Amino acid sequence: MALIVQKYGGTSVADAECIRKVARRVVDTHEAGNQVVVCVSAMAGETNALVDLARELGGARPPAREYDVLVSTGEQKTIALLAMAIQGLGHKARSFTGAQMAMRTDGSHTRARIESIDSERLLRVLADGAIAVIAGFQGVDADGNITTLGRGGSDTSAVAVACALGADRCEIYTDVDGVHTADPNLVDGARKLDHVSYNEMLEMASLGAKVLQIRAVKIAMRYGLPIHVRSTFGSDEGTWVVREEDVMERLVVSGVTYNRDEAKIRVKGVKDEPGVAGQIFTPLAASGIVVDMIVQNLSSDGTTDVTFTVPRGDYARALEIAEKEVPRTGATTVEGDEHIAKVSIVGLGMQDHAGVATRMFGVLASESINIQMITTSEIKISVVIEEKYTELAVRALHAAFIEDGAAEPTAE
Ligand code: ASP
Ligand code: MG
Repeated sequence: MALIVQKYGGTSVADAECIRKVARRVVDTHEAGNQVVVCVSAMAGETNALVDLARELGGARPPAREYDVLVSTGEQKTIALLAMAIQGLGHKARSFTGAQMAMRTDGSHTRARIESIDSERLLRVLADGAIAVIAGFQGVDADGNITTLGRGGSDTSAVAVACALGADRCEIYTDVDGVHTADPNLVDGARKLDHVSYNEMLEMASLGAKVLQIRAVKIAMRYGLPIHVRSTFGSDEGTWVVREEDVMERLVVSGVTYNRDEAKIRVKGVKDEPGVAGQIFTPLAASGIVVDMIVQNLSSDGTTDVTFTVPRGDYARALEIAEKEVPRTGATTVEGDEHIAKVSIVGLGMQDHAGVATRMFGVLASESINIQMITTSEIKISVVIEEKYTELAVRALHAAFIEDGAAEPTAE
C-alpha cells in the first residue's frame, strides 16, 4: 500500500463532467489499495475571473488580505464538488480548506510561504479509509488570516503536503503529457522525457515551468520526493522528476530551452581596478533588479567591458542606472540591446562528456548564428544570440543533440 498525493490542475476540473472523471481516477487509485490525498486547483478560468473582479472593485492593487479571501474561494468550490463526486461513487471523502488542514504560512498575502502542515489530521482521515480532498493555493497565517501562495501555487501545496505526510510520490495531473526535450510548438521532433532530475528540471525552467511550479520542484528536491507529471486525459506514463541517482539514462542533453525575456547592457571602457564591478552592480541590486548573465573582458588598452543581462521589464531602469554610474567607473559608453534571446542546452550527462560546448558552438556557427555571450554550469550551457535566430538555434541544437542520437545515454 502506498500513500499517494494527486494534484489536478484547473483544466482537469474545468466542469462537472471533468470532476466526475477525476473522481473516477481517484477512486481507482484508492481501490488499487492506496491511501490517497487529492489536491485541487480552482476550475479553469475561475481564479482569473476572481482576480478581474478584485481589480474592478479594489483597483489595480486590491487590498492584499481581501484579495486572498476572495481568490482562495475558487479552490474551496472544487474540493467540495470533488468530495461529493467521490462520495457519489461510494467512497468516503472529506474536503479540507487550507485552514482546516492547518496549512500554516507566513503572513505575506498573495505570495505566502508554507511553514508547517498538520499532517496528523490528514493521516487520521486516511487511516479511517477516507480520501482527503485538499484545497491547493491557500493557507492560513498565525493570526488566522487566509493567505495564498502565488499564482500556480497548487503544485507547491500538493508537493508540500506530500513531503509532510511522507508520501511515496506526488502525481501532478495536467493537460500535457509531461516535460519535453524542447517546446513542442517550436520543434516537431520534441519528445517527452521519461525521467528528469530535480536539477535538470530547475535548469530547464522555461520548459519545466509550464508543467510544474519551480518552487514545488525545490521542495521535492529537499525531501527526495518523486514527482510524476502526467496527463489527466490518458493513462500513459508522463515524466518522473526524481533524484539524480534515480535517472535511468543520463542524457548528455535532455532539453533545449530558450528565453526571450531578457535584455543586454554593455558598459564599455571601464577602469580595470578593484571595486568597479561593485559600483555597477550594487545600485542595480539596490533597485531590486536581478542580473542574470555577466561577462567581463579585458581590452587591449587595459580597460574592460562589462556586459550583463536583466529581465526585459527592468531594461529601461537598468540602462538608466548603468548610465548614472559612468563617471565613477570611468566608462566610455553604455549601450543596450533588447532584441536578444538566451538559448540553453541542459543535461546531466554533460558532466561526464567533454566537448559539449564546442559542439554547441559548432552547430550555431554552421547556421551562421553569432554568439554574443556564454555562461555555463555543470549541467547547462547558455548563449545569448540575436532574438530573430531563436527558432533556428533551438531547432538546430535539438536536431544535433537530441534527434541525431547524440543524446545517447552515457555509459553508466
Ligand atoms: N488557482 C490558482 C491559480 O490559478 C492556483 C493554481 O491553479 O495552481 O493560479
Ligand atoms: Mg499550474
